[in-house]
Amino acid sequence: MAAEEPLGRGYLLHEEIGRGAVAVVRRATSRDGGPPLAAKLLRPEYAADRRVRELFLREEAALRDLDHPSVVRLRDLIVEGGTLALVMELVDGPNLRRYLSYRDGRLDPAEATAITAQAAAALAAAHAQGIVHLDLKPENVLVARGSVPPSVRITDFGVAVLLHDADKGAVGGTPGYTAPEIFTGAAPTATADVWSLGVLLVEMVTGNPRGNPEELPAPLNAVARDCLAADPRYRPPARRVAAYLHQLIAGLSVSPAPGTPSPAPVDAPQPAAPAPGTPYPGRPTAQNLAHWAGQLPEGGQRETRLRPGFTPPAPPRATPPPRRKARWRRGPLLTLGAAALVAAVLAGLNMTASAGERQFQAVQQVSLPPPVTPRTGTVAPPASLPPTTKLAAPPASAVEDLRVTLAGEVEDDAGTLAVSIRDGRAIAYVCDGDRVEAWLQGTASAGALELKGKNGSRLTGTFDAERAQGRITVEDETHDFRLGTVRKPSGLYRLATRVRGAQLNGGWIVLPDGRQVGVLTENGVPAPAPRLDVASRTATVEGTTVTATTIDADSGEGF
Ligand code: ADP
Ligand code: MG
Repeated sequence: MAAEEPLGRGYLLHEEIGRGAVAVVRRATSRDGGPPLAAKLLRPEYAADRRVRELFLREEAALRDLDHPSVVRLRDLIVEGGTLALVMELVDGPNLRRYLSYRDGRLDPAEATAITAQAAAALAAAHAQGIVHLDLKPENVLVARGSVPPSVRITDFGVAVLLHDADKGAVGGTPGYTAPEIFTGAAPTATADVWSLGVLLVEMVTGNPRGNPEELPAPLNAVARDCLAADPRYRPPARRVAAYLHQLIAGLSVSPAPGTPSPAPVDAPQPAAPAPGTPYPGRPTAQNLAHWAGQLPEGGQRETRLRPGFTPPAPPRATPPPRRKARWRRGPLLTLGAAALVAAVLAGLNMTASAGERQFQAVQQVSLPPPVTPRTGTVAPPASLPPTTKLAAPPASAVEDLRVTLAGEVEDDAGTLAVSIRDGRAIAYVCDGDRVEAWLQGTASAGALELKGKNGSRLTGTFDAERAQGRITVEDETHDFRLGTVRKPSGLYRLATRVRGAQLNGGWIVLPDGRQVGVLTENGVPAPAPRLDVASRTATVEGTTVTATTIDADSGEGF
């Protein structure tokens, strides 16, 4: 193509700087001046392909709301006749594939750690917005020239999935880099990206994306191994990988050359570096599995359409460990035999209790204790959690006016919990998506949570702007929890209305991966809540549309 072609009214296109499966990327400038740009242009042969055009628009949607130093910044979308282009900041430097080839295919572990930490932080930012990249690989990591260790930006959200968009399934990925479950039809989840991070780390250190994580020096080997867990529930969340690798970098003192910009964007508070020889603390264990699982969506069945030319993926690298059993959470664990037991227990209950309480107690009595040994095979030693999870109470002034919603799983797979905090007040909802639920209210003051609800339910813990942890008791069962910040439309929704003479009360927790967990009681009898349409806040109950309200820490709605 000739140099200096116009793009839309505002830009000029210059030489080609890259090329991918569906796009050509050219250097671009704005007619108004300003920083150098890159324009990703849909290749003409795909101009009439509606599906590819839709993917392009999906990439725009993913990038539009993402503002992170390690994610390439989107500037404009140009749609003009057959032309479809994303105008982005130019990253002056090669992609990581080319960078690796300059270095004979391998980087030293410190440099690989710095790059993986940035990629993990970028992915964590995307995940916090409900976006899964699904195609992290060296071609989609841009290495900016001029800093040591290099500063990188993630690009190409071309197969990314917006998890709130329920009908958008995974459409592709790259075998070897994209998590195997994506190719077997599982719903795309944030943990798929964590797999890709593991591949990236292994490739950068060993020179081979299929390399053995054990070849990496400790504790990188354990990080890579965890990221590459065959069962997505056992992979750590990206933000945890980022936080840990940043800690390591501090310990490794991969200091940049004088005058170079700070290499590592941070998505979590920076704790002190681990002492030399500190073992990698993140391996899922009986203690922290539920915490991992709290970040991780359940698998589900969805159609997986691959980009043309993709071959099936390699088999998973490890045997999935068995799933822990629920305490509160009944759901599918309740067999027919247990159902008969519920009936028997119900018959013997104190009939002065309300219908809801009766069923709740029944669930308590038939729930199964957690297995003693949750993993078979190599059982990781109980690892202490890294300092990032230890929440020091922040100064009162810093949290007294905090407005934040936190959500996650309760340990032992017991249920899901969300806490909304506004100006020292807190509202929490916990439920198992089936029959157990409790609303709690109380204070969030000086970093401490103190909430109470009906029937002796109680929550105590600590919190800051990013996390909360503590213990929750519902009826007589107590479980630990760890929560992370969620942003709208994730959070808490509540319903209280009458439909044809019946009193309906509902609660939903919407998680960043798009999953929602809720319980709806009709005249006090609980059941799994119907799906809430988050955009309109409506659900359909027996043919009638009902509208929920949010518990909104920002606006104060529901407080
Ligand atoms: P595709 O979706 O077709 O794979 P990509 O977005 O991955 O397209 O871009 C293809 C290549 O173009 C990248 O591997 C990289 O080399 C180059 N590239 C993409 N975006 C930029 C950018 N913002 N700055 C510099 N180079 C870029
Ligand atoms: Mg690409």
